Amino acid sequence: MDNAARAVTQQQGLAEGDFLPFAAGWPQVRDGYLRWLAQHEKTGAVFRQAEVQTRQPLGALQLVGTIDRIDAVSSTGEPTPLVIDYKTENDAVTKKRIGAGAEDTQLAFYAALLSHDTLRAAYVNVGERGETQMHEQEAVVHLRDLLVEGIQHDFARMAAGAPMPALGEGSVCDYCAVRGLCRKDFWK
Ligand code: SF4
Repeated sequence: MDNAARAVTQQQGLAEGDFLPFAAGWPQVRDGYLRWLAQHEKTGAVFRQAEVQTRQPLGALQLVGTIDRIDAVSSTGEPTPLVIDYKTENDAVTKKRIGAGAEDTQLAFYAALLSHDTLRAAYVNVGERGETQMHEQEAVVHLRDLLVEGIQHDFARMAAGAPMPALGEGSVCDYCAVRGLCRKDFWK
């Protein structure tokens, strides 16, 4: 991991000093992550793929996304995919995502990108203070079904001419690819 940090610093053309603020906390972050990884692998999890760019047809639609990481986990029998999304935010924020159920669509969407009937999905929060923690969404298969149903329903309504109120809030708008088109920024 130290080698990776050095290589990326070089690739990005960063001066030694640019990485200094992060370098100070890096050993803690790295050690916390590796402690989590060792525990995680003890449960039988095996790394399979990272940065998986994938598509899944859904009727006339195509779901498109990039999944941070997929592991295989097996207690007995056939291994089950475990979809992982890394988070570097405050751990309490990540915990809240799990508690938000159908309101948090990220893991459910990644699950929808895979064709497996059974799978697991979790956020792995890589904390700056040396704590890496995994937060699993136990209901991901059910949430995936709800999301897929919702997407199909919404697109059917749009195709039938339903108007689309600009309902996005806060950081959702910050990362929105069609910001401006909805004109929400001009309401005031
Ligand atoms: S910028 Fe507009 S379209 Fe995008 S999420 Fe916000 S409200 Fe919705």
